Amino acid sequence: MARINDNYLKLKAGYLFPEIGRRVKEFTNANPDAQVIRLGIGDVTRPLAPAVLKALHDGVDDLGRGDTFHGYGPEQGYEWLIDTIIDKSYKPLGVDLQKSEVFISDGSKCDCANILDIFDLSNKVAICDPVYPVYNDTNVMVGRTGEADDKGYYEGIVYLPCTEENNFTPDLPSEKVDIIYLCYPNNPTGTVASREELKKWVDYARANDAVIFYDAAYEAFITEDDIPHSIYEIEGAKECAIEFRSFSKTAGFTGVRCALTVVPEAVTATTAKGEKVALNKLWNRRQCTKFNGVSYPVQRAAQAVYSDEGWKQTREIIDYYMENARIIREGLSAAGITCYGGVNSPYIWLKTPEGMSSWDFFDKLLKECHVVGTPGSGFGPSGEGYFRLSAFGDRENIETAVSRIKEKWGK
Ligand SMILES: *Cc1c(COP(=O)(O)O)cnc(C)c1O
Repeated sequence: MARINDNYLKLKAGYLFPEIGRRVKEFTNANPDAQVIRLGIGDVTRPLAPAVLKALHDGVDDLGRGDTFHGYGPEQGYEWLIDTIIDKSYKPLGVDLQKSEVFISDGSKCDCANILDIFDLSNKVAICDPVYPVYNDTNVMVGRTGEADDKGYYEGIVYLPCTEENNFTPDLPSEKVDIIYLCYPNNPTGTVASREELKKWVDYARANDAVIFYDAAYEAFITEDDIPHSIYEIEGAKECAIEFRSFSKTAGFTGVRCALTVVPEAVTATTAKGEKVALNKLWNRRQCTKFNGVSYPVQRAAQAVYSDEGWKQTREIIDYYMENARIIREGLSAAGITCYGGVNSPYIWLKTPEGMSSWDFFDKLLKECHVVGTPGSGFGPSGEGYFRLSAFGDRENIETAVSRIKEKWGK
Protein backbone atom coordinates (compact mmCIF):
# COMPACT_ATOMS: atom_id res chain seq x y z
CA MET A 1 0.00 0.00 0.00
CA ALA A 2 1.27 3.47 -0.85
CA ARG A 3 2.07 5.58 2.16
CA ILE A 4 2.20 9.32 2.43
CA ASN A 5 4.90 11.53 3.84
CA ASP A 6 3.38 11.90 7.32
CA ASN A 7 5.32 15.09 7.90
CA TYR A 8 2.79 16.91 5.73
CA LEU A 9 0.15 16.22 8.37
CA LYS A 10 2.17 18.16 10.93
CA LEU A 11 1.65 21.36 8.93
CA LYS A 12 -0.86 23.86 10.21
CA ALA A 13 -3.50 24.50 7.58
CA GLY A 14 -2.71 27.59 5.49
CA TYR A 15 -4.66 29.78 7.85
CA LEU A 16 -3.60 33.39 7.35
CA PHE A 17 -4.77 34.36 3.87
CA PRO A 18 -7.96 32.24 3.87
CA GLU A 19 -8.91 33.82 7.21
CA ILE A 20 -8.24 37.32 5.83
CA GLY A 21 -10.37 36.44 2.80
CA ARG A 22 -13.17 35.16 4.99
CA ARG A 23 -13.29 38.30 7.14
CA VAL A 24 -13.14 40.62 4.12
CA LYS A 25 -15.95 38.70 2.42
CA GLU A 26 -18.10 38.83 5.52
CA PHE A 27 -17.55 42.59 5.71
CA THR A 28 -18.24 43.30 2.03
CA ASN A 29 -21.38 41.16 2.10
CA ALA A 30 -22.68 43.25 4.97
CA ASN A 31 -21.41 46.51 3.43
CA PRO A 32 -21.73 46.15 -0.34
CA ASP A 33 -21.05 49.86 -0.99
CA ALA A 34 -17.80 50.04 0.98
CA GLN A 35 -14.75 50.75 -1.20
CA VAL A 36 -12.32 48.27 0.31
CA ILE A 37 -8.63 48.91 -0.38
CA ARG A 38 -6.33 45.92 -0.18
CA LEU A 39 -2.83 46.58 1.11
CA GLY A 40 -2.30 43.05 2.27
CA ILE A 41 -0.82 41.54 -0.85
CA GLY A 42 2.80 40.58 -1.32
CA ASP A 43 2.52 40.72 -5.10
CA VAL A 44 3.52 43.41 -7.57
CA THR A 45 0.88 45.27 -9.58
CA ARG A 46 2.71 47.33 -12.24
CA PRO A 47 3.21 45.91 -15.75
CA LEU A 48 6.61 44.80 -17.04
CA ALA A 49 9.05 47.47 -18.20
CA PRO A 50 8.68 48.01 -22.00
CA ALA A 51 12.29 47.00 -22.77
CA VAL A 52 11.84 43.80 -20.79
CA LEU A 53 8.56 43.02 -22.51
CA LYS A 54 10.19 43.54 -25.90
CA ALA A 55 12.98 41.10 -25.03
CA LEU A 56 10.37 38.57 -23.95
CA HIS A 57 8.53 38.96 -27.29
CA ASP A 58 11.80 38.75 -29.25
CA GLY A 59 12.69 35.61 -27.32
CA VAL A 60 9.39 34.02 -28.31
CA ASP A 61 9.97 35.00 -31.96
CA ASP A 62 13.42 33.38 -31.84
CA LEU A 63 11.72 30.10 -31.00
CA GLY A 64 9.62 30.36 -34.14
CA ARG A 65 12.55 30.42 -36.59
CA GLY A 66 14.82 27.53 -37.48
CA ASP A 67 18.05 29.50 -37.21
CA THR A 68 17.29 30.99 -33.78
CA PHE A 69 15.31 28.14 -32.24
CA HIS A 70 16.37 27.00 -28.76
CA GLY A 71 15.58 23.65 -27.17
CA TYR A 72 16.83 22.60 -23.76
CA GLY A 73 19.22 25.17 -22.37
CA PRO A 74 21.85 24.55 -19.72
CA GLU A 75 20.23 23.47 -16.42
CA GLN A 76 22.23 26.21 -14.68
CA GLY A 77 20.98 28.95 -17.02
CA TYR A 78 22.41 30.58 -20.14
CA GLU A 79 25.90 31.94 -19.80
CA TRP A 80 24.90 35.31 -21.26
CA LEU A 81 22.41 35.82 -18.43
CA ILE A 82 24.84 34.64 -15.75
CA ASP A 83 27.56 36.94 -17.15
CA THR A 84 25.16 39.87 -17.19
CA ILE A 85 24.12 39.28 -13.57
CA ILE A 86 27.72 38.97 -12.36
CA ASP A 87 28.70 42.12 -14.26
CA LYS A 88 25.75 44.38 -13.58
CA SER A 89 24.50 43.21 -10.24
CA TYR A 90 27.48 41.87 -8.28
CA LYS A 91 30.61 43.60 -9.67
CA PRO A 92 29.35 47.08 -8.71
CA LEU A 93 29.12 45.85 -5.11
CA GLY A 94 32.74 44.74 -5.20
CA VAL A 95 31.67 41.08 -5.30
CA ASP A 96 33.46 38.84 -7.80
CA LEU A 97 31.66 35.64 -8.70
CA GLN A 98 32.55 32.85 -11.08
CA LYS A 99 30.02 31.69 -13.66
CA SER A 100 29.86 28.30 -12.01
CA GLU A 101 28.64 29.88 -8.78
CA VAL A 102 25.40 31.31 -10.22
CA PHE A 103 22.36 29.11 -10.89
CA ILE A 104 19.34 30.51 -12.75
CA SER A 105 15.97 29.13 -11.69
CA ASP A 106 12.26 29.75 -11.95
CA GLY A 107 11.88 31.10 -8.44
CA SER A 108 13.42 31.77 -5.07
CA LYS A 109 10.56 30.09 -3.28
CA CYS A 110 11.37 26.74 -4.84
CA ASP A 111 15.13 27.25 -4.53
CA CYS A 112 15.00 27.96 -0.82
CA ALA A 113 12.81 24.88 -0.44
CA ASN A 114 14.86 22.62 -2.74
CA ILE A 115 18.20 23.53 -1.18
CA LEU A 116 17.23 21.30 1.74
CA ASP A 117 17.75 18.30 -0.60
CA ILE A 118 21.50 18.52 -0.17
CA PHE A 119 21.50 18.74 3.65
CA ASP A 120 21.18 15.98 6.22
CA LEU A 121 18.15 15.93 8.52
CA SER A 122 20.40 16.09 11.57
CA ASN A 123 21.23 19.75 10.90
CA LYS A 124 19.94 22.17 13.53
CA VAL A 125 18.06 24.96 11.75
CA ALA A 126 17.48 28.52 13.00
CA ILE A 127 14.57 30.55 11.64
CA CYS A 128 13.55 34.12 12.43
CA ASP A 129 10.18 34.90 13.97
CA PRO A 130 8.18 36.50 12.33
CA VAL A 131 9.18 34.95 9.01
CA TYR A 132 8.39 34.16 5.37
CA PRO A 133 6.56 30.85 6.08
CA VAL A 134 8.37 28.87 3.34
CA TYR A 135 11.53 28.43 5.43
CA ASN A 136 9.62 26.90 8.31
CA ASP A 137 7.15 24.73 6.41
CA THR A 138 9.72 23.20 4.08
CA ASN A 139 11.71 22.03 7.07
CA VAL A 140 8.58 20.42 8.46
CA MET A 141 7.90 18.73 5.10
CA VAL A 142 11.34 17.11 4.88
CA GLY A 143 10.94 15.74 8.40
CA ARG A 144 13.37 17.86 10.34
CA THR A 145 10.85 18.72 13.08
CA GLY A 146 8.43 17.24 15.55
CA GLU A 147 4.93 18.59 16.03
CA ALA A 148 4.00 22.24 16.50
CA ASP A 149 3.19 23.55 19.97
CA ASP A 150 0.24 25.83 20.80
CA LYS A 151 2.10 28.89 19.59
CA GLY A 152 2.98 27.29 16.27
CA TYR A 153 6.65 26.62 17.07
CA TYR A 154 7.82 23.24 15.76
CA GLU A 155 9.88 20.98 17.95
CA GLY A 156 13.48 20.84 16.80
CA ILE A 157 13.69 24.27 15.16
CA VAL A 158 15.48 27.15 16.87
CA TYR A 159 13.36 30.29 16.57
CA LEU A 160 14.99 33.70 16.64
CA PRO A 161 12.54 36.44 17.70
CA CYS A 162 12.82 39.71 15.76
CA THR A 163 11.05 42.56 17.52
CA GLU A 164 11.39 46.24 18.30
CA GLU A 165 13.71 45.31 21.17
CA ASN A 166 16.42 43.93 18.89
CA ASN A 167 15.71 46.24 15.98
CA PHE A 168 14.22 43.28 14.07
CA THR A 169 17.60 41.62 13.71
CA PRO A 170 17.93 38.36 15.65
CA ASP A 171 20.32 37.75 18.52
CA LEU A 172 22.78 34.88 18.14
CA PRO A 173 21.23 31.61 19.32
CA SER A 174 22.20 30.22 22.70
CA GLU A 175 22.49 26.69 21.30
CA LYS A 176 24.71 25.80 18.36
CA VAL A 177 22.93 25.77 14.97
CA ASP A 178 24.09 24.51 11.56
CA ILE A 179 21.82 26.38 9.14
CA ILE A 180 20.54 29.94 9.56
CA TYR A 181 17.90 31.60 7.40
CA LEU A 182 18.25 35.36 7.06
CA CYS A 183 16.14 37.62 4.84
CA TYR A 184 17.08 41.29 4.33
CA PRO A 185 15.41 43.59 3.42
CA ASN A 186 12.94 41.56 5.42
CA ASN A 187 9.53 40.25 4.57
CA PRO A 188 7.36 40.84 6.63
CA THR A 189 9.05 43.53 8.80
CA GLY A 190 10.43 45.65 5.95
CA THR A 191 13.56 46.28 8.01
CA VAL A 192 17.20 45.86 7.00
CA ALA A 193 20.37 44.52 8.58
CA SER A 194 23.47 46.70 8.81
CA ARG A 195 26.91 45.55 7.76
CA GLU A 196 27.81 45.00 11.42
CA GLU A 197 24.74 42.84 12.01
CA LEU A 198 25.49 40.65 9.00
CA LYS A 199 29.15 40.44 9.99
CA LYS A 200 28.06 39.07 13.35
CA TRP A 201 26.24 36.22 11.57
CA VAL A 202 29.01 35.53 9.09
CA ASP A 203 31.48 35.32 11.96
CA TYR A 204 29.13 32.98 13.82
CA ALA A 205 28.71 30.76 10.77
CA ARG A 206 32.46 30.53 10.20
CA ALA A 207 33.20 29.81 13.84
CA ASN A 208 30.53 27.09 14.00
CA ASP A 209 30.84 25.60 10.50
CA ALA A 210 27.29 26.71 9.83
CA VAL A 211 25.71 27.75 6.54
CA ILE A 212 23.66 30.93 6.06
CA PHE A 213 20.76 30.94 3.62
CA TYR A 214 20.48 34.59 2.66
CA ASP A 215 17.24 35.64 0.95
CA ALA A 216 17.82 38.96 -0.83
CA ALA A 217 14.56 39.04 -2.79
CA TYR A 218 14.09 42.73 -1.93
CA GLU A 219 17.65 44.02 -2.36
CA ALA A 220 16.63 46.27 -5.27
CA PHE A 221 14.39 48.25 -2.90
CA ILE A 222 17.30 49.43 -0.74
CA THR A 223 17.54 53.23 -0.92
CA GLU A 224 20.09 53.98 1.82
CA ASP A 225 23.76 53.95 0.87
CA ASP A 226 25.36 51.91 3.62
CA ILE A 227 22.99 48.91 3.60
CA PRO A 228 24.45 45.73 2.03
CA HIS A 229 22.66 44.42 -1.08
CA SER A 230 24.39 41.06 -0.90
CA ILE A 231 25.70 38.93 1.94
CA TYR A 232 28.93 38.63 -0.09
CA GLU A 233 29.69 42.26 0.68
CA ILE A 234 30.61 40.91 4.11
CA GLU A 235 34.11 39.54 4.49
CA GLY A 236 34.14 35.74 4.77
CA ALA A 237 30.57 35.25 3.51
CA LYS A 238 31.75 33.44 0.40
CA GLU A 239 32.88 30.63 2.65
CA CYS A 240 29.60 30.18 4.48
CA ALA A 241 26.60 31.68 2.65
CA ILE A 242 24.20 30.77 -0.11
CA GLU A 243 22.28 33.73 -1.54
CA PHE A 244 18.83 33.72 -3.14
CA ARG A 245 17.74 36.51 -5.44
CA SER A 246 14.66 36.88 -7.58
CA PHE A 247 13.38 38.95 -10.48
CA SER A 248 9.89 38.66 -8.95
CA LYS A 249 9.76 41.87 -6.94
CA THR A 250 12.75 43.57 -8.58
CA ALA A 251 11.30 43.50 -12.08
CA GLY A 252 7.70 42.41 -11.72
CA PHE A 253 8.42 38.77 -12.65
CA THR A 254 6.01 37.13 -10.20
CA GLY A 255 4.03 35.82 -13.17
CA VAL A 256 7.03 35.43 -15.50
CA ARG A 257 9.25 33.41 -13.11
CA CYS A 258 13.00 33.88 -12.95
CA ALA A 259 15.40 33.88 -10.02
CA LEU A 260 18.97 32.96 -9.14
CA THR A 261 20.84 31.23 -6.40
CA VAL A 262 24.51 31.78 -5.68
CA VAL A 263 26.45 28.86 -4.24
CA PRO A 264 30.11 29.93 -3.97
CA GLU A 265 32.71 27.24 -4.65
CA ALA A 266 34.20 27.76 -1.20
CA VAL A 267 31.06 26.91 0.81
CA THR A 268 31.38 23.44 2.28
CA ALA A 269 29.64 21.10 4.67
CA THR A 270 30.76 17.74 6.00
CA THR A 271 29.93 14.13 5.20
CA ALA A 272 28.91 11.61 7.85
CA LYS A 273 32.62 10.80 8.17
CA GLY A 274 33.56 14.44 8.66
CA GLU A 275 35.06 15.13 5.22
CA LYS A 276 34.38 18.53 3.68
CA VAL A 277 32.37 18.63 0.45
CA ALA A 278 31.67 21.68 -1.74
CA LEU A 279 27.95 22.49 -1.74
CA ASN A 280 28.27 23.92 -5.24
CA LYS A 281 28.89 20.45 -6.69
CA LEU A 282 25.92 18.98 -4.85
CA TRP A 283 23.56 21.77 -5.85
CA ASN A 284 24.69 21.45 -9.45
CA ARG A 285 24.02 17.72 -9.32
CA ARG A 286 20.63 18.30 -7.76
CA GLN A 287 19.60 20.87 -10.37
CA CYS A 288 20.87 18.80 -13.32
CA THR A 289 18.82 15.83 -12.13
CA LYS A 290 15.62 17.49 -10.98
CA PHE A 291 15.43 20.73 -12.99
CA ASN A 292 15.59 21.45 -16.69
CA GLY A 293 16.20 25.17 -16.77
CA VAL A 294 14.18 28.35 -17.24
CA SER A 295 12.57 28.99 -20.59
CA TYR A 296 14.67 30.83 -23.15
CA PRO A 297 12.37 33.87 -23.66
CA VAL A 298 12.15 34.38 -19.89
CA GLN A 299 15.94 34.39 -19.58
CA ARG A 300 16.11 36.91 -22.44
CA ALA A 301 13.60 39.08 -20.57
CA ALA A 302 15.65 38.77 -17.35
CA GLN A 303 18.78 39.81 -19.22
CA ALA A 304 16.96 42.90 -20.55
CA VAL A 305 16.32 44.06 -16.97
CA TYR A 306 20.01 45.00 -16.92
CA SER A 307 20.12 46.81 -20.27
CA ASP A 308 20.43 50.60 -19.94
CA GLU A 309 16.84 51.14 -20.92
CA GLY A 310 15.49 48.11 -19.08
CA TRP A 311 17.16 49.09 -15.83
CA LYS A 312 16.04 52.74 -16.10
CA GLN A 313 12.43 51.63 -16.62
CA THR A 314 12.62 48.96 -13.93
CA ARG A 315 14.10 51.48 -11.50
CA GLU A 316 11.15 53.82 -12.19
CA ILE A 317 8.71 51.08 -11.18
CA ILE A 318 10.66 50.38 -7.99
CA ASP A 319 10.69 54.14 -7.28
CA TYR A 320 6.92 54.21 -7.75
CA TYR A 321 6.47 51.51 -5.10
CA MET A 322 8.94 53.21 -2.79
CA GLU A 323 7.07 56.51 -3.11
CA ASN A 324 3.95 54.55 -2.08
CA ALA A 325 5.91 53.23 0.88
CA ARG A 326 6.93 56.75 1.85
CA ILE A 327 3.32 57.95 1.68
CA ILE A 328 2.18 55.11 3.94
CA ARG A 329 5.02 55.48 6.41
CA GLU A 330 4.84 59.25 6.74
CA GLY A 331 1.04 59.32 6.77
CA LEU A 332 0.77 56.75 9.52
CA SER A 333 3.58 58.27 11.54
CA ALA A 334 1.78 61.64 11.35
CA ALA A 335 -1.28 59.84 12.72
CA GLY A 336 0.77 58.79 15.72
CA ILE A 337 1.28 55.17 14.63
CA THR A 338 4.77 53.72 15.10
CA CYS A 339 6.06 52.38 11.78
CA TYR A 340 9.09 50.32 10.82
CA GLY A 341 10.35 49.42 7.37
CA GLY A 342 9.21 51.15 4.21
CA VAL A 343 12.56 52.92 3.66
CA ASN A 344 14.54 50.09 2.06
CA SER A 345 11.65 47.75 1.33
CA PRO A 346 8.07 47.86 0.05
CA TYR A 347 6.62 46.72 3.41
CA ILE A 348 5.59 48.84 6.37
CA TRP A 349 5.51 47.00 9.68
CA LEU A 350 3.44 49.03 12.08
CA LYS A 351 2.90 48.67 15.78
CA THR A 352 -0.78 48.28 16.47
CA PRO A 353 -2.08 51.33 18.36
CA GLU A 354 -3.11 51.04 22.00
CA GLY A 355 -1.62 47.57 22.33
CA MET A 356 -4.34 46.01 20.19
CA SER A 357 -3.81 42.44 19.02
CA SER A 358 -2.91 42.02 15.32
CA TRP A 359 -6.33 40.55 14.51
CA ASP A 360 -8.25 43.18 16.51
CA PHE A 361 -6.41 45.86 14.56
CA PHE A 362 -7.21 44.02 11.33
CA ASP A 363 -10.93 44.10 12.16
CA LYS A 364 -10.88 47.72 13.25
CA LEU A 365 -8.97 48.85 10.15
CA LEU A 366 -11.37 46.95 7.93
CA LYS A 367 -14.53 48.20 9.64
CA GLU A 368 -13.55 51.80 10.20
CA CYS A 369 -11.22 52.55 7.28
CA HIS A 370 -12.17 49.82 4.79
CA VAL A 371 -8.48 48.96 4.46
CA VAL A 372 -7.10 45.41 4.42
CA GLY A 373 -3.63 44.57 5.67
CA THR A 374 -1.92 41.49 7.09
CA PRO A 375 -1.90 40.69 10.83
CA GLY A 376 1.67 40.34 12.05
CA SER A 377 0.84 37.31 14.17
CA GLY A 378 0.19 35.39 10.94
CA PHE A 379 3.96 35.41 10.30
CA GLY A 380 4.87 33.97 13.69
CA PRO A 381 4.21 34.48 17.41
CA SER A 382 6.65 37.42 17.66
CA GLY A 383 4.61 39.24 15.02
CA GLU A 384 1.77 39.66 17.53
CA GLY A 385 1.06 43.33 18.08
CA TYR A 386 2.33 44.24 14.62
CA PHE A 387 0.68 44.63 11.23
CA ARG A 388 2.01 44.61 7.65
CA LEU A 389 0.98 47.03 4.92
CA SER A 390 2.27 46.55 1.40
CA ALA A 391 3.31 49.38 -0.93
CA PHE A 392 2.77 47.28 -4.09
CA GLY A 393 -0.52 48.99 -4.87
CA ASP A 394 -1.97 51.76 -6.92
CA ARG A 395 -0.97 55.31 -5.88
CA GLU A 396 -4.50 56.65 -5.70
CA ASN A 397 -5.68 53.76 -3.51
CA ILE A 398 -2.72 54.19 -1.20
CA GLU A 399 -3.39 57.90 -0.79
CA THR A 400 -7.05 57.21 -0.03
CA ALA A 401 -6.18 54.48 2.46
CA VAL A 402 -3.68 56.69 4.24
CA SER A 403 -6.08 59.63 4.49
CA ARG A 404 -8.76 57.35 5.94
CA ILE A 405 -6.32 56.02 8.55
CA LYS A 406 -5.17 59.55 9.37
CA GLU A 407 -8.75 60.65 9.88
CA LYS A 408 -9.34 57.79 12.24
CA TRP A 409 -6.18 57.90 14.34
CA GLY A 410 -4.63 61.28 13.64
CA LYS A 411 -6.08 63.34 16.44
C1 LIG B 1 8.42 37.23 -2.94
C2 LIG B 1 9.50 36.58 -2.16
C3 LIG B 1 10.42 35.73 -2.78
C4 LIG B 1 10.38 35.49 -4.27
O1 LIG B 1 9.88 34.26 -4.60
P1 LIG B 1 9.79 33.81 -6.11
O2 LIG B 1 9.53 32.35 -6.02
O3 LIG B 1 11.11 34.12 -6.75
O4 LIG B 1 8.67 34.58 -6.73
C5 LIG B 1 11.42 35.17 -2.02
N1 LIG B 1 11.53 35.42 -0.71
C6 LIG B 1 10.68 36.25 -0.07
C7 LIG B 1 10.87 36.54 1.37
C8 LIG B 1 9.63 36.85 -0.79
O5 LIG B 1 8.78 37.67 -0.15
